[in-house]
Amino acid sequence: MNLEEIKKAAIPVCDEFKVKRLDMRRIQMEEWKQLVRDTITDPIQLAEILDVEVDVIKKVSEEFPLRANPYYLSLIQEKEDPIWRQVIPDLKEIHYVAGVDDPLREEEDSPVPNLTHRYPDRVLFYVNYMCPIYCRFCTRKRKVGDPHSINQETIEQGLQYIREHPEIRDVIVSGGDPLMLSDRNIDSIIGSLRAIKHIEIIRIGSRVPVTLPQRITPELCDILKQYHPFYINTHFNHPREITPQAELACTRLANAGIPLGNQTVLLRGVNDDPEVMKELMIKLLNIRVKPYYIYQADLIMGTDHFRTSVEKGLEIIRALRGHISGLGVPHYVIDAPGGGGKIAVTPDPVVSFDDEKIVLRNYEGNIYSYPSMPFEDFDG
Ligand SMILES: *Cc1c(COP(=O)(O)O)cnc(C)c1O
Ligand code: SF4
Repeated sequence: MNLEEIKKAAIPVCDEFKVKRLDMRRIQMEEWKQLVRDTITDPIQLAEILDVEVDVIKKVSEEFPLRANPYYLSLIQEKEDPIWRQVIPDLKEIHYVAGVDDPLREEEDSPVPNLTHRYPDRVLFYVNYMCPIYCRFCTRKRKVGDPHSINQETIEQGLQYIREHPEIRDVIVSGGDPLMLSDRNIDSIIGSLRAIKHIEIIRIGSRVPVTLPQRITPELCDILKQYHPFYINTHFNHPREITPQAELACTRLANAGIPLGNQTVLLRGVNDDPEVMKELMIKLLNIRVKPYYIYQADLIMGTDHFRTSVEKGLEIIRALRGHISGLGVPHYVIDAPGGGGKIAVTPDPVVSFDDEKIVLRNYEGNIYSYPSMPFEDFDG
């Protein structure tokens, strides 16, 4: 298959494609399962459809595996475009080896394997090692793609830990990608969490709406909507990822009453441009997804070429704030190396601040002041 064929295969003409090239058994298979089955993990296969060097891809994917499905590949328009960069292995990943495996010290804050308990009332619970694609900048490379890292036993241990800790009221189910599990497994994990009395909010972190939106079936939505208050945070990085298929997936989830948020990673060569980010945030609101965070890239081994300056992040927030609705302006956060957690960074609008007044700069650069306290208090 060449790229053109893949595009035809993954974009809406999928039914026609199925009939043309697949046997009867595969015709009956759900579209998303077929896309998973047709996922490329072999550098030689990749070289058949894209202009890449097999040796390079092979070498890089020994460090972090290649995984790319026909749907996500179909979004590539040209070599090294913002989609390509996210999914195609690059020699830079092994050339400049600054960074560490676990800069956020998620493992140190793990009382049991695959559960990070850093904040007082909420935990991060990893239930799957697998994702629809492997993003080259992944923050959790140390686990993701390694089938030995997460299993039924660690999931059971995690559930037990949560049961034993009544201070936990919010669980973020993540991975890898929880929505790559079977409907039955998802139902079982989320159902087990919902059965714990002190758990109030359940969230899933998933890139499935972006990288395999066909997975969001009506059946899956029927399962998820039993467990409210239930939230999903997804991970769009570029406006071109907002396709009709992604929109359908988000619409189905939103119609199931699931509030949707988005966590974007700021990535050089992908979205380090205020205009691109603005378009992304506006398009997200249009598909009923609320921008939640923009992450400064973490110090992960082999991803330095994706990092931008912090000033770039501030420039992007300045381009958003006031220019589009506050609904579309996410928090720009640096996840502090060493396990300090997420710290929001904002362009400082305060020109001066004393007992009498605060002087502020608005989004157009104009200056305004506001009394620092009620007049009565100031007089007194
Ligand atoms: C991001 C994160 C959370 C969730 O943080 P929110 O700001 O509540 O979305 C929880 N635990 C860990 C370790 C995290 O990194
Ligand atoms: S979907 Fe998320 S966890 Fe999976 S490879 Fe991409 S960034 Fe990593």
